[in-house]
Amino acid sequence: MIALSLAEIAEVVGGQTHDIPDPSVQVTGPVVRDSREAGPGSLFVAFAGERVDGHDFAAAVVEGGAVAVLGTRPVGVPAIVVDDVQNALGALARHVVRRLGATLVALTGSAGKTSTKDLIAQVLRRKAPTVFTPGSLNNEIGLPLTALSATEETRFLVLEMGARGIGHIRYLAGLTPPKVGLVLNVGSAHIGEFGGREQIAQAKGELVEALPEDGTAILNADDPYVRAMASRTKAKVIFFGESGEADVRAENVRLTDTGQPSFRLHTPSGASDVTMRLYGEHHVSNALAAAAVAHELGMSADEIAVALSEAGSLSRWRMEVTERPDGVTVVNDAYNANPESMRAALRALAAIGKGRRTWAVLGKMAELGDEALAEHDAVGRLAVRLNVSKLVAVGGREAAWLQLGAYNEGSWGEESVHVSDAQAAVDLLRSELRPGDVVLVKASRSVGLESVAQALMETG
Ligand code: ATP
Ligand code: MG
Repeated sequence: MIALSLAEIAEVVGGQTHDIPDPSVQVTGPVVRDSREAGPGSLFVAFAGERVDGHDFAAAVVEGGAVAVLGTRPVGVPAIVVDDVQNALGALARHVVRRLGATLVALTGSAGKTSTKDLIAQVLRRKAPTVFTPGSLNNEIGLPLTALSATEETRFLVLEMGARGIGHIRYLAGLTPPKVGLVLNVGSAHIGEFGGREQIAQAKGELVEALPEDGTAILNADDPYVRAMASRTKAKVIFFGESGEADVRAENVRLTDTGQPSFRLHTPSGASDVTMRLYGEHHVSNALAAAAVAHELGMSADEIAVALSEAGSLSRWRMEVTERPDGVTVVNDAYNANPESMRAALRALAAIGKGRRTWAVLGKMAELGDEALAEHDAVGRLAVRLNVSKLVAVGGREAAWLQLGAYNEGSWGEESVHVSDAQAAVDLLRSELRPGDVVLVKASRSVGLESVAQALMETG
């Protein structure tokens, strides 16, 4: 973080100082909420959770070198005391990003935020020092903490923004006002909580409403809900997508024999060829989004194409493809699932496993509200249409819907099985897998199917 004195921090957050002998002492960072990450120069942000109260760690953290605690009560060691820690953290982030020399890039969407954020970071950091959201820390706490990790040297700050309702993105964009705002797609993630796709579009579009006149909105031309957001912004609009009118687009999109996307990237300043290391055709859209951001920030088509071709995944359990010594390939996409990403992963499985026996080990897609039955049914049917050899549906009623979809699409009897839990899936796979087989593992986060992928890796 940029160095700030305790006096300045207290003023910015409207807090009272307690037990601070010298208010001119500086916090040099990092700002942390996890006591284990605190160290010399840190500011420790104490949240009082249901089970753990951060204030209880205050003394130990200061003992370990942290400069002070930001919390809601005096703790006997240097502290800045406020009424609401989340508001204070937000105010501090807002203050700090104003003083940074960095360009802020924010992105949101239903699926692919983390994947795309990782791609953007890997492209931009070739040009200048870049700080980006670690993992998926995209909420009202993770976002300011990420922003506060930027330094004077940072030129690009890339922030993932998540929304679970109307007003969430507006709040986040208020903390760290972006210059470049990217909306990936409007899918059905969290549709149960939102109430419908219109509401999701309303919520995600708050990002482009927050952009300044000299900013840039980067919008997915292939998604009608996102395209329509062009009318909600004062900023310049750049479209990306496979559609012919997009400013940044892909031509000759294909999957290589190993299932990796390859295409010719067109930008307003030139064209260049990309072959990705990442798996799954959904990364074409993510790569185009990243390319549009990089183009807008002054990179050439050639520079962007090289960076995209060399980019790997920075976050776990997203289409991680591993080959076991015995020739079984495990595709671990167990981080999360929604209908769009299920379809993309199944298509990737079909490409990677062309000519081989393929297994789709799938669990529930959460939070689909009224669409749950139809969406699980549709995924089960797609597995059959893509000629996936075996479907293993794991879990309760949603798994039954997956299997029923497969069954109703025809031809499948014993090729689709329903097992009750992850252990049963592992037992089945351990006895059935043969060298050369390709296994995809995927479900919503709450199902925790990564345990299946991990168990399969250990079998090797
Ligand atoms: P979260 O809301 O959990 O933070 P996210 O939007 O950050 O999710 P990722 O973590 O990048 O998304 O990806 C989640 C899942 O969606 C993964 O299984 C990934 O393979 C898939 N996915 C990634 N990009 C796309 C895309 N453009 N369209 C559909 N699915 C995608
Ligand atoms: Mg994410």
